[in-house]
Amino acid sequence: MFVETSMRGVIRHACAAYGKSHEGNPLTVWLPEGRDTEILVLASIHGDESETTVVLSDALRAIRADGLKNAAILCANPDGIVRGTRGNAKGVDLNRNFPTDNWRPDPVYYKSRENEPQGIALSPGTHRASEPETQALLLLLEELKPRAVVTLHAALACIDDADGSLLGRRLAEKTGLPLQADVGYATPGSFGSWALEQNLNLVTYEFEAASPYELKERHTSVFIELLTGKINIE
Ligand SMILES: [Zn+2]
Repeated sequence: MFVETSMRGVIRHACAAYGKSHEGNPLTVWLPEGRDTEILVLASIHGDESETTVVLSDALRAIRADGLKNAAILCANPDGIVRGTRGNAKGVDLNRNFPTDNWRPDPVYYKSRENEPQGIALSPGTHRASEPETQALLLLLEELKPRAVVTLHAALACIDDADGSLLGRRLAEKTGLPLQADVGYATPGSFGSWALEQNLNLVTYEFEAASPYELKERHTSVFIELLTGKINIE
């Protein structure tokens, strides 16, 4: 099931484009053979959380082509990653741009340091799903029809699962991170709010604040299990 260590410098799975960012950067998904996928795992929807890409890539590169059972997006917000910004090239927080009932046009605020108030403003977009990155992801979900989504963030150190689903409970057990029903503040227009409205099992996996080296030690094995279909979702 595993790729030899010396071969782990590159990703050897099939990669498909599912759209383009504002700036024309490709949005790509790594797929199992046959494209059949039960779970979609997604990193870096916030461009200042690049450790999520690093750890998910570490897992993807360790799995042989015939061992990959689920799909992975290493970077849902490439323009943000290039800039090191939470939002995309237009300053939109993609995780507040989903077409939900609770989407609002007001600015959304975040903090970039643990002990600061949430004082930095971003846009939720001009309307629901206004951004090409959001639109492309919605179309991909329609095509792949995964039964569950795991979306990676940093660094609230929890497994956030509004449903308390089996998948969320399993991930909490495996990581030792606390299972929570919300992150403690309102997130209108978030991917999680959208999934709740669609009855899609979505788990928000929040890394703890740690270096990519430490995060790989603690989390790569969990993503290997996820991507190879070793974690049952029901
Ligand atoms: Zn985030």
